[in-house]
Amino acid sequence: MEKFSWKTIDDNKILKELDLSSFSYKVSVVPQDFYSFFNIEDEDFDIVLKTDKHSYSASLKWAREKSPVVRLWWKEDFSEALKEKFPKWINRKKGDKFSNMKLIFEKTADKKVFNVSFKDDSDGLVFGHIPGVSAGDIFESRKELSEYGLHAPTMAGIWGRENEGSCSIVLSGGYEDDIDNLDYILYTGQGGQDAPGGKQVSDQEFSRGNKGLQLSCEYGLPVRVTRGHQVNNGPESGYRYDGLYYVTSYERIIGKSGHYICRFHLESELSISDLEKKLDENLPENYKTTHRTETTINKINRNIKLREKIKEIYGHKCQVCNVYLRRPHGAIAIGAHIKGLGQPHNGPDALSNMLCLCPNHHAQFDDLAFYIDPETFAVKGLEGYEEVNLTISNNHKIDKEFLEYHKDQYEKKTNEN
Ligand SMILES: [Zn+2]
Repeated sequence: MEKFSWKTIDDNKILKELDLSSFSYKVSVVPQDFYSFFNIEDEDFDIVLKTDKHSYSASLKWAREKSPVVRLWWKEDFSEALKEKFPKWINRKKGDKFSNMKLIFEKTADKKVFNVSFKDDSDGLVFGHIPGVSAGDIFESRKELSEYGLHAPTMAGIWGRENEGSCSIVLSGGYEDDIDNLDYILYTGQGGQDAPGGKQVSDQEFSRGNKGLQLSCEYGLPVRVTRGHQVNNGPESGYRYDGLYYVTSYERIIGKSGHYICRFHLESELSISDLEKKLDENLPENYKTTHRTETTINKINRNIKLREKIKEIYGHKCQVCNVYLRRPHGAIAIGAHIKGLGQPHNGPDALSNMLCLCPNHHAQFDDLAFYIDPETFAVKGLEGYEEVNLTISNNHKIDKEFLEYHKDQYEKKTNEN
């Protein structure tokens, strides 16, 4: 049986597909066809939802005399569990179909106790290392990379999603504008070629995997890099997994072909010497050490470390909305700079100039949709957060000067409009 977002699995099990309101409102309407499953009669009653580790209290309540419906209500603790189990819920908008996030109810001997389990069927991007695979490992084919879960798509060079980030790229020599210095890659995004690996015949856009890489940069998400035998620094044959890189910046520029391309700067999490050591056995014979100074690397590592640090200080919770932002394979909280790093702001890369924000509030903060009062740390100008103060840890000292700067920017923008 199937009604709205509910479905029978067997006599003892039903599933509910979660929608945005499941995450936002702690409630779901139970369709009449499922009343018998929950033993619903005339009275409201409490039930227990049991996972393997916890028990959560919930209730089944009748509402509205005239068109009676029963709603299943749960509490904050269960809401938290849902959000933690389905970290991607935060990317969903009203009306989005949630067919990939499911809650399964199972009857138990006790009529008022139901086992619940969570099922995430989204074709999960996996961020970070893959268990059992080390940098330097060789794979025979794209198919094998896919089977090992390193890089799911067997054709596309980027594995990513527009609203989640990109978790992996494969370098196989398809783009004329690519630069590959082993620990540093200038990577051309996808799209605009007449055939895979062919000529650039139209502009690239920040969409699909390109958009994903842009998000990986903004969220500080690790990107797995695999090199094919087709590229200079690749293995003699097959594909070699080269570990984790971070997207440190990106741009959209006119490439050699005369068409716009999306370009991404990626840096290995390892220093060049450590990376060479790891990949040593499977580097091509003509590979030459590139004698670069380590200064770039240190700068990047410092940047990544600070971002990790600020997220750690706040336990991966947004300082504005306190939403918990960890996902199974890395966090989606963002270490955001108050006074921008690049031109024309030239803010410092320092914890005193950083905030830990969720993707939504990060984007709004950067767009000057709200500001933080430098004296009181009150959130100003953000609908729904009128009385809210920024959460600030004792271990985090924010320099007011940067908040002043951001506030000035906000006021300038507001006055222009
Ligand atoms: Zn937030």
